[in-house]
Amino acid sequence: MGVRGGTARSEFGETSEAIFMTSGYAYDSAGQAAARFTGEQQGMTYSRLQNPTVEMLEKRIALLEGAESARTMASGMAAMTAALLCQLSAGDHLVAARTMFGSCRWLTDSLLPRFGIEATIVDGSDTPGWEKAIRPNTKVFFFETPANPTLEIVDLAAVCGIAKAHGIASVVDNAFATAALQRPMAFGADVVAYSATKLMDGQGRVLAGAVCGTEAFVNDVLLPFVRNTGPTLSPFNAWVVLKGLETLDIRAERQCRNALQVAGFLESRVPRVLYPGLASHPQHELAMRQMTAGGTILSFFVGDRREAHALLDGLELIDISNNIGDSRSLMTHPSSTTHMGVSEEVRDSMGITEGMLRLNVGLEDPQDLIEDLDRALNAAGL
Ligand SMILES: *Cc1c(COP(=O)(O)O)cnc(C)c1O
Repeated sequence: MGVRGGTARSEFGETSEAIFMTSGYAYDSAGQAAARFTGEQQGMTYSRLQNPTVEMLEKRIALLEGAESARTMASGMAAMTAALLCQLSAGDHLVAARTMFGSCRWLTDSLLPRFGIEATIVDGSDTPGWEKAIRPNTKVFFFETPANPTLEIVDLAAVCGIAKAHGIASVVDNAFATAALQRPMAFGADVVAYSATKLMDGQGRVLAGAVCGTEAFVNDVLLPFVRNTGPTLSPFNAWVVLKGLETLDIRAERQCRNALQVAGFLESRVPRVLYPGLASHPQHELAMRQMTAGGTILSFFVGDRREAHALLDGLELIDISNNIGDSRSLMTHPSSTTHMGVSEEVRDSMGITEGMLRLNVGLEDPQDLIEDLDRALNAAGL
């Protein structure tokens, strides 16, 4: 599915998907144009609405997810914004997990309230807390699992089950795991949203996003929002992600294996490592029930910001970079980069300390990564 799913060959029979860099489409007649606009005739009208390369990617993502339908967006944040705003109105309420990607927290804490949509923030790993936060006007549960950067796990079956029992839509940000490692819909999620910038492209090339759901949700709720607001993915970027998906499974598998080895090494060298694939992760069993492996990302702790920065500065192979899901190993200090924009109080509540580092483990030889970390730890006096 990742290799061939969604492919639509043109008249030339190309093996690799064609890139249709066009904003518009020509019609054979005025009647045909009119029929396309009324929907009587299937076909493209304008690339904000449809594009052949983008459609191939959307079909492939839906197949990988096991979703009835999917639509792509220009970035992960465009996907998260669309997935929420398309179904929320003033007076609605949502419940969201406290540990989330910084910009996702900005949506729940700063943007949505401006439009009269209130959010209650809960500890995502405290399942009964989700039920307690429900109000008569609660429309959406929103969370990511594993969460960035604390690797906290939300119990998908339990939390999506609570949502379902109350007629609430669950929106899951699956960027960390992707469909290669975790299928939230199999546990009852209604909407799965992606930053395809991460493991789906997997080679650090383009920004992209996607939202998956039922045909009814996509056609009746999501499409009116995205067609008119225009967070459209470029056909070129769609093509790059199509290429990325061809190798998603094997990259994910190898990067998870490397991450487990690196996590094991770090456990012997630093006070604390958070990796869902390690038995020491507080929710290891739950993680292994809903994921096929521990993922490509781990976090670990040294003493303080000075030590964390010294460790980063001592790296020779691993890059100092805040991206994730890349085939290159990348490390960042969340409290001074990705989560710099959230208040110290919110960072504390998430467990993001000044000594926390986040590592995306890539496709390099894991022994080289371990040697680089060992050298940098020594250089930092750790
Ligand atoms: C990166 C990321 C996003 C945002 O995606 P962009 O493609 O950078 O806009 C959202 N959620 C999670 C969990 C992410 O890691």
